[in-house]
Amino acid sequence: MRQKNGEELVSPNESSPGLLDLHSFDTELLPEMSVPCLYDAPPVNNFSRGRSFDDSDPYFGINKQTSKARGLPDTSVLKSIAADNVKASNVAKIKVVVRKRPLNKRELAKNDEDIIETSSNSLVVHETKLKVDLTEYQEKHEFVFDAVLNEEVSNDEVYRETVEPIIPIIFQRTKATCFAYGQTGSGKTYTMKPLPLRAVRDILRLIHHTYRNQGFQLFFSFFEIYGGKLFDLLSDRKKLCMREDGKQQVCIVGLQEYRVVDVEIVKELIERGNATRSTGTTGANEESSRSHAILQLSVKRSVDGSESKPARLVGKLSFIDLAGSERGADTTDNDKQTRMEGAEINKSLLALKECIRALDNDQGHIPFRGSKLTEVLRDSFVGNSRTVMISCISPNSGSCEHTLNTLRYADRVKSLSRGNIKKD
Ligand code: ADP
Ligand code: MG
Repeated sequence: MRQKNGEELVSPNESSPGLLDLHSFDTELLPEMSVPCLYDAPPVNNFSRGRSFDDSDPYFGINKQTSKARGLPDTSVLKSIAADNVKASNVAKIKVVVRKRPLNKRELAKNDEDIIETSSNSLVVHETKLKVDLTEYQEKHEFVFDAVLNEEVSNDEVYRETVEPIIPIIFQRTKATCFAYGQTGSGKTYTMKPLPLRAVRDILRLIHHTYRNQGFQLFFSFFEIYGGKLFDLLSDRKKLCMREDGKQQVCIVGLQEYRVVDVEIVKELIERGNATRSTGTTGANEESSRSHAILQLSVKRSVDGSESKPARLVGKLSFIDLAGSERGADTTDNDKQTRMEGAEINKSLLALKECIRALDNDQGHIPFRGSKLTEVLRDSFVGNSRTVMISCISPNSGSCEHTLNTLRYADRVKSLSRGNIKKD
């Protein structure tokens, strides 16, 4: 028997025989006192067979009347959560996706060639090279990823492929991170900008419907790392500092967090943050291509489900628009500041790759101390975490070298060799 808001709840094990055994469920994955998740998901093939669930379904072992009497959500809610749990268990720990943008007007005007040939999960880069006698020849580089999204894929489809499957597990103590990696002008910001808005819409839907009246709250923050320092993008670029608490939890002192109750607020906050990000002394593109922008959505919950008590973190979803990958090479520039920034970017992109690889290999040691970026993301690399890397590439021949570098980086983050195919 457990207590919730003074109500007595029947432990699932003690009640009707059709209920699933609580002990077989990984309670580490559950938000505290999250009643619906105590019911395990029905077998996947029942869904795939299109079987319909009635109110006395044996997989739930609970009907509408008894669930109401116990103060539990009704069966339709439980079904929806069970379906989410099934989806969640299928979400890969690391997913690497490539997005190719279309040729832009300038490239079309120059008759620039599209050198990227795509299929659903692989792509070929056609590199033009010169022989010693100066005749041209083509070298093909083939790569395989979890998914390849071509120039016709919409932002909605990008969302469905990358972030949407992660949303339900944010309510199950998961920290998930979605990165956009690639050279300046390859479409990182274009790709990342709409994702948080769609995520907020789906998270709020879960809070207001599936998990209604359970005390879940959503918070929003937006900051950047520039030259190894942290700045709040929602507080006039106020400088922030990072500390670790006794439990080695990352804490960014002074970072503004906004409670989110509707999508409109988020639209405004994203616009404001992006506008702040690009107002630098060296001009919009220059500045933003040298910083990592980090937008975080935190799902919290007050201990007894009431709004008056302080809320504790349940799960987090971070969106990272990384510095232009080519900036890491600015280490020989004449300008000292550019050189130092280049070195910092280089360090952070290398450290990021190593951290994700360590996650993928289930290594106990995650080398997050390698850079400010990975230190800030430390709590997203431990415990129950999910990572999606979206590698953005330009299609034109002039970007060939940068494109190959981006694809090689993505390939090293997660190598998906495909037998006899000749890989780069
Ligand atoms: P980055 O953030 O990597 O420097 P941007 O996101 O600013 O690159 O994209 C550069 C330009 O290309 C922008 O004008 C953007 O609107 C355009 N763009 C990028 N990706 C796409 C796409 N998939 N479809 C159409 N236009 C795109
Ligand atoms: Mg950008």
